[in-house]
Amino acid sequence: MSDNKGTLIVISGPSGVGKGTVVGMLLKRLKDAVLSVSCTTRAPREGEKEGKSYFFISKATFLKMIDENGFLEYSNHFENYYGTPRFFVEQKLAEGKTVILEIDVDGAQHIREEFPDALLLMITPPSREELVRRLKLRGTEDEAVIAKRLERADYEMSRSQFYDYTIINDDLDKTVETIIKIVENRRKGIK
Ligand code: 5GP
Repeated sequence: MSDNKGTLIVISGPSGVGKGTVVGMLLKRLKDAVLSVSCTTRAPREGEKEGKSYFFISKATFLKMIDENGFLEYSNHFENYYGTPRFFVEQKLAEGKTVILEIDVDGAQHIREEFPDALLLMITPPSREELVRRLKLRGTEDEAVIAKRLERADYEMSRSQFYDYTIINDDLDKTVETIIKIVENRRKGIK
C-alpha cells in the first residue's frame, strides 16, 4: 500500500471470541480508524441496530448488490449472506483512513487477493472450552445454533496460519494493546 493511502485491517475469529468488543476499543484508540458496516440477510439479534451492527437487508437486495459489484467480498454461511459494501471501504482508504473489517475467514481470503497489503488479524479464545462458555453466556441462541457456531469456529481457527498474526484474547486490554502495536508498526513500515 502506498504512503498516501489508508490501512486495511481485517479482524476475524470465531463467534463469541469478543471481536466486537475488541473492535469497539480499537475504534476509540486508533486515530483515523473507521469500521466498515457489513450487509447481512440474517435477522437482527436483540440490541443490534440497523446501520450500526449491520445493514439488515433482504436476500433479493443482497443478490442485486452482488450483480452490481456492490461488494468487496461476501460469503454465505449459517444459511445467510454477509458482505462488505465496496464503496465505503474504497472511499475511506482513498482518504487515508484505517478501515477495519470484521469478517470471516473466507471473506478475509478474498480481501488478501484484492489487497495484498491488508493486515489480517485472527483473534482466538484461550481454549475451546472457554469459547463454549462464552457462547452459552451470550444466551442469544439455542443449543442447535451454538453447535453450528462451534463447528464453524473450528473451521475458522483451522485457517489461522493464513493470517499475519493470531492474537489469543485472554485479557481484553492486552489484546487491544497488542493489536495497536501491530498496527503502529505496520504504519511505520515494519512488518
Ligand atoms: P454474526 O452472525 O455472529 O454477526 O457473524 C457471523 C460471522 O460472519 C462472523 O464470523 C463475522 O465476522 C462474519 N461476517 C460479518 N460481516 C461479514 C462480511 O461482511 N463478510 C464476511 N465474509 N463475513 C462477515
